Amino acid sequence: MKTIGLLGGMSWESTLGYYRAINEGVKKSLGGLHSAKIALVSVDFAPIEKLQKAGDWAGAARILSAEAQKIEAAGADFLLICTNTMHKVAPEIAAAINIPLIHIADATAEILVKDGIQSVGLLGTAFTMEQDFYKGRLENSYGLRVLIPSEADREIVHRTIYQELCMGIVESSSKGQYIRIIDALQKQGAQAVILGCTEIAMLVQQGDTPVRLLDTTATHAAKAVHCALESG
Ligand code: GLU
Repeated sequence: MKTIGLLGGMSWESTLGYYRAINEGVKKSLGGLHSAKIALVSVDFAPIEKLQKAGDWAGAARILSAEAQKIEAAGADFLLICTNTMHKVAPEIAAAINIPLIHIADATAEILVKDGIQSVGLLGTAFTMEQDFYKGRLENSYGLRVLIPSEADREIVHRTIYQELCMGIVESSSKGQYIRIIDALQKQGAQAVILGCTEIAMLVQQGDTPVRLLDTTATHAAKAVHCALESG
């Protein structure tokens, strides 16, 4: 079994989801007392969020690259960045290490393409919903048509992530808003909706809506388990 590298803490609430999903995935495949081999570095999210807000992505890339190097030195065979948003600096982090980076958007897009989905809704931070590093990757590398909420709804989705979910707060009023926004994306033609922020599954689960959801924490974790257990 390979050792999975996790760059977590963004936020720690969602890193818990990764830890559980990866260990459950290994247990499901290998049974008994098996659990995942993980090298985890969990950062302090407050300074990272300040850099995001200030638009200092180079500063964030420097910090995260140094942390990724520690994960490699701890014996990880490959790396997951446990947040969609910070994939904005995935190229810089990948360049700083000698182990492969498993990109969170690829883990999800591969499932969509396999299932013949062409139009997909995307929920996440404003950075993720609006910028090319994520939306553009889905469109250009996978030929997907990506639908995002209206500006007012993007503001609700973004604010809920930082002011509630990343602080462990789960409000039923926010859940109602997300379900309304997911329904609106389906009405615009989305055949499925990507929960493109690793905390959203704390708020909305598949049982809450008939619209197919792809939780990026789950898809990313599942790909990590697959990579850890494949032979060769
Ligand atoms: N975990 C979130 C994501 O998947 C947001 C927190 C962050 O800005 O990294 O995008």
